[in-house]
Amino acid sequence: MSSSIKDSTTGNEGQSTGRSPEGEAPDIPVFEWERDESFRDSIGTVAEDGKRNWIYAKMPKGRLYNKRKIVSAILLVLFFVTPFIKVNGNPLFLFNIIERRFILFGIPFWTQDFHLFVLAFLTMVVFIILFSVIFGRIWCGWACPQTVFMEMVFRRIEYWIEGDANRQRKLNAGPWNAERIRKKGIKWSIFALFSFLIGNLALTYIVGVDEWKDMVMAGPAARPGLFTTTMAFSAIFFFVFAYFREQACIVVCPYGRLQGVLLTKESMLVAYDYLRGEPRGRRKKKQNENEAAKPLGDCVDCKLCVQVCPTGIDIRNGTQMECVNCTACIDACDEVMTKLDRPTGLIRVTSEQQLATGKGFKASPRVFAYTGVLAIMLTILVFGLTTGRNDVEATILRQSGMLFREMEDGRLNNQYTYQIVNKTMQPMELDIRLADPDMGELQMIGPQTIQLEAQGMAKGAFFVLMEKDKLKGRMTKIRFEVQDTEAETVDRAKSNFLGPIGSY
Ligand code: SF4
Ligand code: SF4
Repeated sequence: MSSSIKDSTTGNEGQSTGRSPEGEAPDIPVFEWERDESFRDSIGTVAEDGKRNWIYAKMPKGRLYNKRKIVSAILLVLFFVTPFIKVNGNPLFLFNIIERRFILFGIPFWTQDFHLFVLAFLTMVVFIILFSVIFGRIWCGWACPQTVFMEMVFRRIEYWIEGDANRQRKLNAGPWNAERIRKKGIKWSIFALFSFLIGNLALTYIVGVDEWKDMVMAGPAARPGLFTTTMAFSAIFFFVFAYFREQACIVVCPYGRLQGVLLTKESMLVAYDYLRGEPRGRRKKKQNENEAAKPLGDCVDCKLCVQVCPTGIDIRNGTQMECVNCTACIDACDEVMTKLDRPTGLIRVTSEQQLATGKGFKASPRVFAYTGVLAIMLTILVFGLTTGRNDVEATILRQSGMLFREMEDGRLNNQYTYQIVNKTMQPMELDIRLADPDMGELQMIGPQTIQLEAQGMAKGAFFVLMEKDKLKGRMTKIRFEVQDTEAETVDRAKSNFLGPIGSY
């Protein structure tokens, strides 16, 4: 006998295999089960009257939560240490959107490298898509900074001060007495302090740790712009972690919204084994005839998996956009199963396909397609990074609107403008020379050596004087080399030398 079971994501009908959790012969009776899809009509965090349904998530505990604590501790250290890591004098990462300066893995990307930055960004997007197609939203629940800070810092502070979910609910429902004022005061003060810390951290990723230190040393009055930005960041983080919370994942995060198109039936996700768990229900010690004839699945409907969920959903309804794969419900259910002396894993990390068929992971054609695209993009990116960018970028142009001049000694004179960008964090002294010194003489307008600050840019002009017998036509190709103080060529540029008609 087989049963008709609604697919949890699409609502399509599939055939139950009535298999055991291990994919062996059926050890639970096969049943008729029509899923109640009414949960899709509303969001768990919005009440019927349209107001916010505040989520009081029960404090998680268990094997996976302990692992999450370790992962989060490592990530928190990384978040705070990364801005201080330098590669060749450059920060490891910098996202200075204000001045359009970006550094990835210590490699600075200037406006001139925009094509490489776009390629690196697109490669990262394809990687994220591929990762999500295979591993679902494991990033959201385990590694996203929003979740790490919310669940492992702010939520834990809240448990520490206000107690577990029921005590929080009671406190919020009660009057503003001395206890409530004291607890809320302490909690919000600590939240404000941590938000300020995270606001400063965010700033170090934007302006770099050196500029942040300058601001701290000089004081708010000396750097009002940066100080205002820090305070704005701190206020936003306070709002997000004290009030907005899971709404950031459910409503705002574009990655979360994308899951609907990224997830496949083969994607790994936190899922409830409906074949094993249904029909759910509490077992009575004394059953009547009807109850005995309709045996129950393993889910005892204790709702602990719902109570620990930080986004307020019931995972037994199937895959939902709100699930951030935090795995808290797995721990909660495993604890129940252990107490009932049943196998753990009624809720587990698996795929829709594995749940329905009991077979192992099978890559979909989409995985192969994304992998192919990712491999091509990575190859192009590595090639571009190794050959397509210099630490110094020189642009040399013949002065527009100007013809040649004939000098008293008979040589011809053309004027050029230059723009040189130093992409490194070290100051530089550079000279511009003719690649072929026999072609003529280069005379700088101003100092012979160009001084460039770290990540600085210099603009200027120079003349090239050329004998008439060197001309190859009205326009003669001319090449320049930009050299450092050790006569190492750091960049090259080309232009034309304009001569009179018929003088060659
Ligand atoms: S359903 Fe489970 S994994 Fe998903 S958010 Fe809720 S507790 Fe976390
Ligand atoms: S924790 Fe497990 S047994 Fe309890 S309601 Fe959730 S799925 Fe059912």
